[in-house]
Amino acid sequence: MAVFVDGCYWYACPEHMAPNAAWWAEKLAVNVARGQCNDARLIEIGWERVHVWEHEDSEVAAEYLAAQWHADDATVSGSSGAH
Ligand SMILES: [Zn+2]
Repeated sequence: MAVFVDGCYWYACPEHMAPNAAWWAEKLAVNVARGQCNDARLIEIGWERVHVWEHEDSEVAAEYLAAQWHADDATVSGSSGAH
């Protein structure tokens, strides 16, 4: 599993994006597109990608990541039958 911490500024976080930064919007769109491109590559090689925002509380993010991790385990064990 690949974990990304997306910078609020560089990845155009909806909570911290400056509302009047029209000039930046195009540049930020390039960053977002690049991030999505990286995601696509990871999907191709079978990796789970999890993104958390830079501004997110680290404990909340950790819980979220743990939940994603266990969701992966459930998928894997579900396909291989009961333990
Ligand atoms: Zn943010």
